[in-house]
Amino acid sequence: MTNNENFFNLSNDYFSFIGQKCLFEIQKNSDSNTNSKNVLTISCSDGEKNYFSFSGNNGLCLTTKCGSITHDNILGKFLSLPSNNAKALLKFFEEYGYFFRLPTNESNIIDFNQLIQITYHIKAALLLMNELQNTSINYEIILQLTLYLLLSPQIKMKISDNQNYTGYRDSVFDTIDSVIVENSSKCITIDDEDYYVILDSIYEKNYNLRVDEYEDISTGETFMYSYPGINDSQYRKITIAYKNCHNVSKIQRLIIDFLFHFMHSNGVIKNVTFDSGIEFYKSDSNYTLDDNMKKGLLLIGKYVLSKEINQHVSKMRPIYNPNTLEPTWKAPNLLTALYFSLFYMKPKSEIYRKCANPSCTNFFLVKTSNSRKKYCCDDCRNASNVRSYRMRQKK
Ligand SMILES: [Zn+2]
Repeated sequence: MTNNENFFNLSNDYFSFIGQKCLFEIQKNSDSNTNSKNVLTISCSDGEKNYFSFSGNNGLCLTTKCGSITHDNILGKFLSLPSNNAKALLKFFEEYGYFFRLPTNESNIIDFNQLIQITYHIKAALLLMNELQNTSINYEIILQLTLYLLLSPQIKMKISDNQNYTGYRDSVFDTIDSVIVENSSKCITIDDEDYYVILDSIYEKNYNLRVDEYEDISTGETFMYSYPGINDSQYRKITIAYKNCHNVSKIQRLIIDFLFHFMHSNGVIKNVTFDSGIEFYKSDSNYTLDDNMKKGLLLIGKYVLSKEINQHVSKMRPIYNPNTLEPTWKAPNLLTALYFSLFYMKPKSEIYRKCANPSCTNFFLVKTSNSRKKYCCDDCRNASNVRSYRMRQKK
């Protein structure tokens, strides 16, 4: 039975995977809740199947049962879906199947907000992968994507009665949540001001943290200091961790130091979303990163990307196929298959680039060496040329 189900086959550089077809329905929610509202449900069947294969040249493809390609570059098609557009996402699922494997002929309610976050995480991982490999580094984009993957609330989604999905949440937050406060921190006095002396991994030397400011942030009593977000609980925990957490791994310490310095000098972060980036408590935040922070950011970006991908590809199981005597991979679902195709991308030689036409959502695959191709197609290039011509005319 298992021989032809859910396997990536490594022979000939091609892996294959069999998925389910799915069907969406809008239903009245007949919950005990009095105000009934419409909910989106999904049901999957094993009757009709989706056949996938993966190759280095075409990426993840939909194929016929015999293996000829009918749709190539499914990851690219997924990435090109317009943001926060339910219709387009459902159409994608109807064509290629749902992210998760469901018990057949059972109807399950979809938590759409969480589902959208899952799609954003895949996009963020891919964009971050591209940016980290780019010859000209765009720190602003790397910062937004890294902080989105790191700081946005952990995705928790019920898939079916006995299946849940939980997204990546870094273990540094377990550390931050359980800080043991040291009372023996080293103190110095400069010009009548008391400072804690903090061993800092971003600046690779001691950093002087004003005692009265630390007290204000950590106790939530704004005696001396008051700025937007000073009472934010995450900022408080990070600041307490910054002063007290020293026996942790290098990367955890780097993340704590980075988050502390970033918020301390640029403003406390209220929220980070995929669509709008970083939202600060203070309204007019113009953030900057110095060279040490930039260096730290690149290390954290790479670490966060690896965590996001590893969490998903760890669901792949290597299996020795007794019929072909070849190694194969068992994929639990399409979501893992998409992450697995990210995992096998070679960002040193090819990347997905977003079309430079602002009204186009397409991503296209290009050789990393091709720095000139900016548009997905001739239409987009022409539209952009017309636009810039008009802009020049106006001036
Ligand atoms: Zn385009």
